[in-house]
Amino acid sequence: MTDPLFGRIAFIGIGLIGSSLARAVAEQKLAAEIVIFDASADARAAAAELKLGHVVDSAAAAVAGSDLVILATPIGAYADLGPVIAPHLKKGAILTDVGSVKQAVIRDLGPHVPEGVHFIPGHPIAGTEHSGPRAGFAELFKGRWAIITPVTGTDPAATAKLQQLWSAVGSMVEVMEPGHHDQVLAITSHLPHLIAYTIVDTATQLETSTQSEVIKFSASGFRDFTRIAASDPTMWRDIFLNNREAVLEILGRFTEDLTALQRAIRWGEGDKLFDTFTRTRAVRRGIIDAKQA
Ligand code: NAP
Repeated sequence: MTDPLFGRIAFIGIGLIGSSLARAVAEQKLAAEIVIFDASADARAAAAELKLGHVVDSAAAAVAGSDLVILATPIGAYADLGPVIAPHLKKGAILTDVGSVKQAVIRDLGPHVPEGVHFIPGHPIAGTEHSGPRAGFAELFKGRWAIITPVTGTDPAATAKLQQLWSAVGSMVEVMEPGHHDQVLAITSHLPHLIAYTIVDTATQLETSTQSEVIKFSASGFRDFTRIAASDPTMWRDIFLNNREAVLEILGRFTEDLTALQRAIRWGEGDKLFDTFTRTRAVRRGIIDAKQA
């Protein structure tokens, strides 16, 4: 029998993403031991009941002696977690995370990481609109991308080991510069969520009689936005606050394009509308071909 990839893996935060990864790590036998801490007593109780790993009552206790530490809390918690876990990180350990923004994570955690610990931020491009340990499942990462964003000077052997973990749970891995990650995600994930939140919120402000029809006839398009707009409010608040520049930049471009379409509708410029909708249809085909539909 071969040794597992890691001795002890610590999960700080055992919600949708943490619990999915813990399940996949256990299924693939990638750790000799899994240790879990979550700030929520309910999440800790659920993790124990689901037998996701050995649940401890502090982040420090989870981190101590761990070869890989995975932060899977909302990113707004990192600034406080950094100084709490730093003194307990084992020399030679890898510290990673699954947060949806990368530059802010490096800003908040980087200064706390002790010499001899490999800090390699990461982000699986996989998820659902559900939260908590009961919502997780081992297959979440299969066929999905995992982006890792090593900082300058990172030990290539440690990066390779983290890549191995993501590959073993079924992901394709891409190594990316953190700032580039934040720009790409601003358009592929953050802007679409902001638009969905806006559309659904606009509908909730209509008069009551129209609101009930919005629900009744939602299959005409609205329904698809409600799934995205049901995503976790804490997580998404933290994403917008921490990827501010990239989101504002892409939002500016989006607003210009929206205004151009508004103008085309006002002036009856059918060709302009048709050309735009033809270009966007081809994008869907590309996503299907890339098996990311
Ligand atoms: P989740 O299901 O809400 O789980 C997060 C857990 O972390 C909660 O149990 C939360 O407890 C706990 N927590 C909060 N602060 C903590 C602290 N200081 N120490 C320990 N635990 C703490 O969230 P998730 O969807 O798994 O998201 C986790 C991370 O993954 C986020 O950073 C997000 O950006 C990233 N991500 C999410 C998705 C997605 O689709 N959901 C996809 C890719 C990446 P409380 O509930 O009591 O706060």
